[in-house]
Amino acid sequence: MPIREIRANDLDQECAKCGRVVAVPVNAIVAGISREGQVNSNVVAMPVCTGCGSVEFLLRSPSAEDHPSQGSYGHKHKLLVDTLHAKLVKGGRLAQGLTPDTAPIKEPPAAVMDRWFKDGLKLPPPPKTDGGAQ
Ligand SMILES: [Zn+2]
Repeated sequence: MPIREIRANDLDQECAKCGRVVAVPVNAIVAGISREGQVNSNVVAMPVCTGCGSVEFLLRSPSAEDHPSQGSYGHKHKLLVDTLHAKLVKGGRLAQGLTPDTAPIKEPPAAVMDRWFKDGLKLPPPPKTDGGAQ
């Protein structure tokens, strides 16, 4: 489910299952999911993959803790997810039943983003390990 790049109005998402990279318009997704009366404001449901039909969810960081491995792929991906989530909430793109007051955000500070994303909100694939895909 990795995000590859966030642009002003869309983002590139790579399918964890089939590897297809799809440009997802920001106005096609919302922050939070609403299901059977339960609302989870921390999740962003991505559109169904056009390649394999799988549906993926991005989870924003749960707490204010610092990531244990600063600058790692996992850390930077979290920053992108938090940025995307905050962008959706601030843009009023919320799942049914949510309001900006009930959807807390954890937008990374600009200084942090500047530090890790000097060339824009882009994240190349992580180096392959023995097991292949993560
Ligand atoms: Zn797919």
